[in-house]
Amino acid sequence: VVKVKNICCVGAGYVGGPTAAVIAFHNPNIRVTVVDKDVGRIRKWNSQHPPIHEPGLNEVVRVARDGTNATKVFVEGDFTVEMPARKQNLFFSTDVAKCVSEADIVFLSVNTPTKMTGIGAGAATNMVALEGATRDIAIAAKPGAIIVEKSTVPCRTAQIVRDTLEVHRPGVPFEILSNPEFLAEGTAIKDLLNPDRILIGSSRTKAGLAAAASLEEVYSAWVDRSRIVTVNLWSSELSKLVANAMLAQRISSINTVSAICEKTGADVDEIAKAIGRDARLGSKFLKAGLGFGGSCFKKDILSLVYLAQTLNLEEVADYWMQVITINEFQRNRFVKRVVANLHGTLIGRKISILGYAFKKDTSDTRESPAVEVVKSLLADNPSEIAIFDPRCNPEDVKDEIKRLFATTGLKLLKPDGPIEVYKDSYEACHDSSAVLILTEWDQFRYPPLKEKDSIFHKDAPSTVAPTKPTLGRTPSELDILHMMTSSRHTKPSSPSPNNSTPSSSTPQTDGTELAPPL
Ligand code: NAD
Repeated sequence: VVKVKNICCVGAGYVGGPTAAVIAFHNPNIRVTVVDKDVGRIRKWNSQHPPIHEPGLNEVVRVARDGTNATKVFVEGDFTVEMPARKQNLFFSTDVAKCVSEADIVFLSVNTPTKMTGIGAGAATNMVALEGATRDIAIAAKPGAIIVEKSTVPCRTAQIVRDTLEVHRPGVPFEILSNPEFLAEGTAIKDLLNPDRILIGSSRTKAGLAAAASLEEVYSAWVDRSRIVTVNLWSSELSKLVANAMLAQRISSINTVSAICEKTGADVDEIAKAIGRDARLGSKFLKAGLGFGGSCFKKDILSLVYLAQTLNLEEVADYWMQVITINEFQRNRFVKRVVANLHGTLIGRKISILGYAFKKDTSDTRESPAVEVVKSLLADNPSEIAIFDPRCNPEDVKDEIKRLFATTGLKLLKPDGPIEVYKDSYEACHDSSAVLILTEWDQFRYPPLKEKDSIFHKDAPSTVAPTKPTLGRTPSELDILHMMTSSRHTKPSSPSPNNSTPSSSTPQTDGTELAPPL
């Protein structure tokens, strides 16, 4: 078992940065360096503003990266961690070769997106970044270093890593481990500080088990050993794909139920409550909504589908593919409903979008449902699509929109096109015909209304007949939120039951009582 003194993490993204920061935070005697070839990203990690937003991330990074002279009490959600005075032990660098060469353990934490061209396009995993990083590691790593797959990879990738190492450093001993990351964006630090489990896959040889024990030692600084699960390499790699596929499957399942509810009078939230009490089912991931987004669920299901296809398991591939089909069905249903509620046309209308990130508490917009909704709405020629997100930098959103539509040659941003990105939610909603809440940010649940008069356009629908209209529930659901003001205020929890006008079924809120500021 190696006494680990130096760890290098290749890839300073959503996984590499926070994971390395928490490892450093809890192991003050281990020097942890995160390397990336993206100079801009490393510069941001070395600044006061990390390149990603995660609750608690700044505090953890500052303690480990800058050191402290005094004991710090760190609180993240339910967790309180006390950190005595310490030297800095977390570093960010672009010098991949040097940092890798000094490490006892090297984490591979690079992106593994879906392959977009060639054989397996649209399903297989694009291994370019992983192969490139593996090559760099193979050339630079010191003999005996432990190479850890942190990225989500297809089953049997460790063999590719092993082969690459053998090509560049024949005969040099390296052990390869699989240690997939189960953090969820938005709660990354909380998840890393208190993981449900740490999964370590190794070969079952003496050297493989010793390498797994070395990594276990690093995690045991803050994770109870009963939560550290050791399995074989292939089980570990496949477990990550299966975990994401199962989570996404639950979302698609409850979304199919929401479609039935809307036609029958059953209430999907009540069903979730009823079935969630069954200990075999559990209550999590039963919130009907717009469907899943993010950089992982879809690509990981596609990877599983591709694996099944290559193993000639067509029925298995079809089964998992259906999870993605339902996700798209749900999003399309939402857009159709928006257009139908606006009398079948968006021409001459401003549509506001609150929330652009793929989920709350992150600024990540990769595979965000909002992006797909914008694409669909554009086809109906609204006069304006006004976007606001509390965490996404408007300039970044604009750049992303330019990039997304670059191949079409269309100029979609104002003044040439209909899309405008706002810094202020009220401006985004001003004179709008419909406001679509597409990310469940807390501030959209209880929005304060600044003004007495309606900020919406006079043709905003008086009813939108959502399945269960209340401003207080999680948004990003099949709602067009119709915020009312002045004389028609009622609290979200008590919509007036007997009013016969359509607007009575629509929630209204007196934000002054309920809402934290936007
Ligand atoms: P990311 O795109 O945010 O970060 C990857 C980083 O790797 C980039 O900064 C890129 O510049 C860098 N990189 C690529 N090739 C490199 C090389 N040769 N040398 C140095 N740096 C290199 O990706 P991410 O979201 O952090 O995901 C990383 C992996 O973790 C993926 O396999 C993903 O599936 C998995 N994962 C992601 C999440 C999540 O919530 N984002 C959760 C669990 C697992």
